[in-house]
Amino acid sequence: MNRREATFEAIAARGSFPVVILGGGINGIGLFRELALHGVDCLLLDKADFAAGATSKSSRMIHGGLRYLENGEFGLVRESLRERNRLLVNAAHYVAPLRTTIPIFGWMDGIVRSPLVFLGLPVKPGGRGALIVKCGLTFYDLVTRAQRRTPRHFFNLKGAALRTLPRLNPGIVAAATYWDAYITQAERLCIELIRDARALNPGSHALNYATVEEVRGGALVVRDGIGGATCAVEPRVVVNAAGAWVDAANARLGLATHLIGGTKGSHLVVDSRELHAAIGDRMVYYEHRDGRVCITFTFMGKVIMGSTDIRVEDPETAACDAEEERYICESLAGVFPGIRVAPEQIVHRFCGVRPLPASAEETTGRISRGHMIEFAEPDTGRPFPVASLIGGKWTTFRAFAEQTADRVLPLIGAARKGTTEDMPIGGGRGYPAGAEEKARWIERAAAAHGLSPARVEVLLSRYGTRAEEYCALPEARAERPLASLPAYTDAEIRWIAAGEQVEHLSDLVCRRSVIALLGDARRDALAELAAAAGEALGWPPPRREEEAARALRESGA
Ligand SMILES: Cc1cc2nc3c(=O)[nH]c(=O)nc-3n(C[C@H](O)[C@H](O)[C@H](O)COP(=O)(O)OP(=O)(O)OC[C@H]3O[C@@H](n4cnc5c(N)ncnc54)[C@H](O)[C@@H]3O)c2cc1C
Repeated sequence: MNRREATFEAIAARGSFPVVILGGGINGIGLFRELALHGVDCLLLDKADFAAGATSKSSRMIHGGLRYLENGEFGLVRESLRERNRLLVNAAHYVAPLRTTIPIFGWMDGIVRSPLVFLGLPVKPGGRGALIVKCGLTFYDLVTRAQRRTPRHFFNLKGAALRTLPRLNPGIVAAATYWDAYITQAERLCIELIRDARALNPGSHALNYATVEEVRGGALVVRDGIGGATCAVEPRVVVNAAGAWVDAANARLGLATHLIGGTKGSHLVVDSRELHAAIGDRMVYYEHRDGRVCITFTFMGKVIMGSTDIRVEDPETAACDAEEERYICESLAGVFPGIRVAPEQIVHRFCGVRPLPASAEETTGRISRGHMIEFAEPDTGRPFPVASLIGGKWTTFRAFAEQTADRVLPLIGAARKGTTEDMPIGGGRGYPAGAEEKARWIERAAAAHGLSPARVEVLLSRYGTRAEEYCALPEARAERPLASLPAYTDAEIRWIAAGEQVEHLSDLVCRRSVIALLGDARRDALAELAAAAGEALGWPPPRREEEAARALRESGA
């Protein structure tokens, strides 16, 4: 019996859990860890892989949400900035400050429009001038003044701005620079949160590719999507954290809801030295012709550009289409008029659906980015309440989890036992602060485990301090770089495959690493990766081929 079968058998044998969470995106996973801290045994199920939804498709900004100020969401921005600052410490291995520059084309633009937006009047998005931007950035600095983790904002007039960013549109009057943050390995942080939760409370279980089919005899019928087995689980509370699929998941529970009005957002990953050189190590945050905010930033040697905001009915079929690709590429013309992105420079495209609240708002950008919980009381045939999670940014997952736990704990007669506020996550635990400490960590680990400092540095950036677990394995000393993807080794891939609930090769290339995101999921690499993962997971040769083909399809390469 493999580890997954053993987990399913343990779930079936137990037959009841105080809390069952549907959806292993960041919000479901955040709650899983939160409840584990309070000693609550939880069952977390995802119909696909963990983080397969919006969680792996975001812009990767860990941010206050400057734009939301215009919608009057001051509370959300304040909460987001607090959470951003916490993640900069608790997940220092993956979350880093991001210098962000806003090109500004007028002094007073938006001075009439923005207050109207703020008052909730139906006006279209449009240009934001220096004064409006100044107000927003001053609010940012004020909120974080007691716990400053990033520098204060500053303005450059046209001349100075063009000296710093010479390829910028010379039509600017000024540029504002401020700091937010971004996350490199968002999907890995999810896996680390699950591992941390299991360490806090081994009575909790998380299973990917498993879901609830229906409620029968007052119990959930849980199906293992890999092995096909089913079992009955009686919950005291169900938390529906299925993101854009919340209403569909509620339907399985016999609950008719219309809580979500998802909008899709697409991004392009671009391999362009010219664009990379033009923006340096920063994000440029700018408006497209239609007033929608777009972003372009350097990410692990590539450039990520996005995004769109388009209503969708069915999250399952959402994909980045040719029109969106054109829209994103064209957005660049307004800020870097001399730079063009050619189709062959696009190495990866991704699209996710924001689980926004159902809304009749005409302009999608005006729909709240906040989060809320909707409770449904027990009903005939469903003897447990259902809490549906609506909205929720990546940045605020911890706060949302805490707020959800505060509503759920009284329902099961449990109480808080601590806080996750200052709790490091995964490889962020004991992560060396600053260049000197990092160099010492690398030197020590390299000497202790007989690996080169250069290799340990790569592993530290990839896994945080969990790198040491890998370095300590005897296989690490015999590792061989993959011929088609030398930045990874055979032993490293086996380590991930065996230890991180990898069921398909696509899990490994899309959500346990940034291989697909950076456009490296090529045919030759996938064949080698399938061989290494297959060795760890006992896949016979035909299965390895199937997995490579599936990963190629899923990564859109
Ligand atoms: C384009 C885009 C850009 C974004 N940019 C940012 C950003 O820069 N910063 C930021 O903070 N936030 C950002 N967000 C928002 C953020 O990514 C999402 O709000 C967040 O990831 C939602 O997480 P979730 O767990 O609620 O939903 P999801 O990540 O969608 O997870 C839901 C999970 O439920 C599973 N599921 C579905 N149905 C069932 C079922 N019946 N049973 C079990 N499981 C089920 C799915 O497989 C999925 O894994 C962005 C979102 C998008 C789409």
